[in-house]
Amino acid sequence: MKIQQIGPMQIEKVVEIDRLAVEPTSLFGNVTPDIIERHRGWLGPALLEAGTNRFILSFHSYLIRTPHHTILVDTCNGNHKNRPSMPPWHMLDTAYLANLARLGVAPEDIDYVMCTHLHADHVGWNTRLADSKWVPTFPKARYLMARTEFEHFEAMHRRNPDQPVNRGSFTDSVLPVVAHGQVDLIEDSHVIERHLEDGIWLEPAPGHSPGNVSVHVKAGGRHALMSGDVIHHPIQFAEPELANPADIDKTLALRTRLDLMRRYADTDTLLLAAHFPEPTAGWIRSHGERFRFRFDTEMRSAA
Ligand SMILES: [Zn+2]
Repeated sequence: MKIQQIGPMQIEKVVEIDRLAVEPTSLFGNVTPDIIERHRGWLGPALLEAGTNRFILSFHSYLIRTPHHTILVDTCNGNHKNRPSMPPWHMLDTAYLANLARLGVAPEDIDYVMCTHLHADHVGWNTRLADSKWVPTFPKARYLMARTEFEHFEAMHRRNPDQPVNRGSFTDSVLPVVAHGQVDLIEDSHVIERHLEDGIWLEPAPGHSPGNVSVHVKAGGRHALMSGDVIHHPIQFAEPELANPADIDKTLALRTRLDLMRRYADTDTLLLAAHFPEPTAGWIRSHGERFRFRFDTEMRSAA
């Protein structure tokens, strides 16, 4: 993804897994081979694996640098996390922190960590292993979590502490940050920065999870929207009814997804989804009754 300049703010992508091919029904419980064939042409091999029906996903964070703050949105899967129920996320050893360092950012430089929701692939780098204990990866950061989201999963954890919540990530990637006093529970319309009409703020986007939020960045006449898991894969622009098995409320998730597509179709609002592979960023465009996604394929400007 090229560096996205939003007024005085810059957004970059921090990659954990740049390309993971996943079985169609593990991504969308209601997908069929016919639906996939219908869209193979426009999706192409970067989004749909050649010779199979597997969808290509990426796992990455967004790094926002403003004149005031350094903010990380979503923290992927993390290293050394025990995820026996999800082999591609199990006991990873990725170069995520080196990729962050390559952007000139050390863990102690992060002011805010913002998780769009608390599923395992969005909270993993909240913590790292130090002397066999999970400690916050970003020692000076405030970790912002939507109160609705946190309270939902905390209640689930309390009801049955031995049952892994979100594949165990609530225990190894959320609770240790709470124990270190670094979590701020926020409303789903929280404002991180505000400068007149511009700023960084959250909006509720429930359905995939109870307190799922999207992150808006607006300045200098540009607007970017980090949509978390409202849309998992570009095929959903053509087939919004395709539903992720993890959606806690599929009807609400579909409504939120359609709202987002209708609201931002044919606008200059840049969409930054959580799992679109390179070049990742782009714009929603109308296509008959449905939609398509136009990736921002402009080459990265030489720094
Ligand atoms: Zn996700």
